[in-house]
Amino acid sequence: AQGIEVLVHIGIDTVMLKGAGFTALVRQGDHVEVGQSLIRFDVDYVARHARSLLTQILVANVEKVARMVPASGIVIAGKSVVLQLELIQESANVALASQAQSGFVHGAKISLPNITGLHARPAAVLAALAKKFASEVRIMRGADAANAKSVVAIMGLATQCGDVIEVAANGPDAHEAIQAISALLAEGCGEKPGEAPLQPATIEPVTVRATVSSSTELAGVSASPGLAVGTIVQFRATIIDVAEHGGAPAHERNQLQQALHEARRQIDIIKAGMQRPEQTKILEAHQELIEDPDLQALALRAIDNGKSAGYAWRAAFSEYAQKLEALEGAHNALLRERATDIRDIGQRVLALLAGVKQTQMIVPDGAILIAEALTPSDTAALDRSKVRGFCTTSGGATSHVAILARSLGIPAICGIDEAALNLVDGSVVVLDGTQGLLQCQPSALDIAQAHARVAQQSAISEQEKTQALAPATTTDGHRIDVAANALNAADTHAAVANGAEGVGLLRSEFLFDERDTAPSEEEQANAYSAVAQALGKERTLIVRTLDVGGDKPLSYLPLPKEDNPFLGLRGIRVSLDQPAMFRVQLRAILRTAPLTKLHIMFPMIATLEELREAKAILAEEQAASGHHNVQVGIMIEVPSAALMAEQFAREADFFSIGTNDLTQYTLAMDRGHPKLAKKADGLHPSVLKMIQLTCEGARKYGKWVGVCGGMASDPICVPVLIGLGVQE
Ligand code: PEP
Ligand code: MG
Repeated sequence: AQGIEVLVHIGIDTVMLKGAGFTALVRQGDHVEVGQSLIRFDVDYVARHARSLLTQILVANVEKVARMVPASGIVIAGKSVVLQLELIQESANVALASQAQSGFVHGAKISLPNITGLHARPAAVLAALAKKFASEVRIMRGADAANAKSVVAIMGLATQCGDVIEVAANGPDAHEAIQAISALLAEGCGEKPGEAPLQPATIEPVTVRATVSSSTELAGVSASPGLAVGTIVQFRATIIDVAEHGGAPAHERNQLQQALHEARRQIDIIKAGMQRPEQTKILEAHQELIEDPDLQALALRAIDNGKSAGYAWRAAFSEYAQKLEALEGAHNALLRERATDIRDIGQRVLALLAGVKQTQMIVPDGAILIAEALTPSDTAALDRSKVRGFCTTSGGATSHVAILARSLGIPAICGIDEAALNLVDGSVVVLDGTQGLLQCQPSALDIAQAHARVAQQSAISEQEKTQALAPATTTDGHRIDVAANALNAADTHAAVANGAEGVGLLRSEFLFDERDTAPSEEEQANAYSAVAQALGKERTLIVRTLDVGGDKPLSYLPLPKEDNPFLGLRGIRVSLDQPAMFRVQLRAILRTAPLTKLHIMFPMIATLEELREAKAILAEEQAASGHHNVQVGIMIEVPSAALMAEQFAREADFFSIGTNDLTQYTLAMDRGHPKLAKKADGLHPSVLKMIQLTCEGARKYGKWVGVCGGMASDPICVPVLIGLGVQE
């Protein structure tokens, strides 16, 4: 309907087949619908008679397309979305009223590098910096302006990648503010150019609904995969009534400040109970919204005009939420969904002001919740043991609710047909989160079949779990060790429960990130020991020493700014440059030696000298601590190390191939580059040759080789890696 022309060319030189092996199911000029099959072909026949099955998909009129996201990895015919297109829309008319600009100094024009514009996270980073200046600071896009200290105002600007932005400031430190904020904007406000927000699927697919709803089936967007059979529980948010007129403004202001303070405290408590970073990040964004100066100023103005705190606050957050909800176009989907976050936090503060207790939702066993919207706090508080799934009429696949549902493993549909709100409490339904379909009048047979599929799915997963604990052996009897990459003890417990035979890579950076001073030996030893204890004495722990550098600076490490950070002080080079810090880490790691099968691994080794220097320092620390029973290995992630694997194998106990970096350095393609990262394929013959050389070199000296880079978890790569001689 949007006039997109797609050309699908099946196989190479298949024109020569003159139609043999193909059956067209439609004719030129036919009207086709979503999901309709167009052509059938005999894969075997075509593969044997044409040069290749490689199938190309071309979008012929790209001038209508703002962005294309092709599927990556394994694509399943008829199931996967192969290509998502974001169409060009008229730019949304969302300018906040531009105020008189007199007295403002303007900075240079900047082209916005953020791939999805200034959405919640970069907006929060920007606002945090702006708040450090006394001056009034604005972000300008043409005639549109936003208060740079307000996250909601920045989001309301609905910026897009490539927008021309300038910073304007008025006040004592205007020049400094412009300089610092312009630099931050040019760098992407904490996002690397091309980095996508929270989830990779950031754009609305052209086909939002799986199919059209019918009287027995309601369609929405797949928000979290899985199948569930359960009974309907209609969930409605409490409607909170507040009086319009308040008491003395000073009293109402005080009420509002107290409620904001209490809301902050409540979120802190919820946050403390969350384990997954995606959950805490969302709550942190909520705290940032509570602090928002524009939101507060709007409420305070209404209070000064005689309104009650509750009335003023509700009007303020509703106005902002509506502003975001009114944004049009697929590229604003992410911002529209942030309206739910504003309403969530708004409702929390409002409940406090009105003295209404927001009780935890009490639901019966086997519930499928239906709501217009579930707030992220509602979702986070869901009792996983009782709720089998949920559907909301608002939101999409990128909403925080969807992200939380996925992290909790609850099947869910967002943006479902509003008819779902009329389903009777207690009626039995089948929710297919994968397809985004709710079967609302299932027959006895449908229910039985769904139960059978749920049972089958859990049986497969149970079966896999029982096998997970068995040794991994190929059909010809070749034994492979399967270990996990972990960040901490919680990851490690989960990995062991799922059959990991060890931790193949403990990325120790997590202890060093986002703090003002380096962690002490004691703190590090506690963290490493917790991981070692989770593994026990029979499993292997490979601790990688600190792997940071110019691209991932630490505030307390004075590293010079580099032109090529990936080729600069990175990995082991930092440790050798900062031997005191390196020794503290080694001492802390060595303290876990009695608890597990300890292995220490050095990252980014490029030369034998680096390995020898690092080993010499380790040997001194081992002598001092008396912990000699430690295996010492290296990451193979620099081509020189792969090429010289034989020489390295004489001096290292094991190798672990970091295919992420090895691919980037072999192909000279930045792993985070928006255009190149997709091409940086570990299956490139050059990378496979590096892996082969590594395995051959190790074999000569009887050393083992593992892979700790992303290729090890890709089902297509695993047989290739094993074939090349990888053992772990
Ligand atoms: C790698 O480079 O493949 C690797 C495992 O290390 P990191 O991803 O932490 O750089
Ligand atoms: Mg690496």
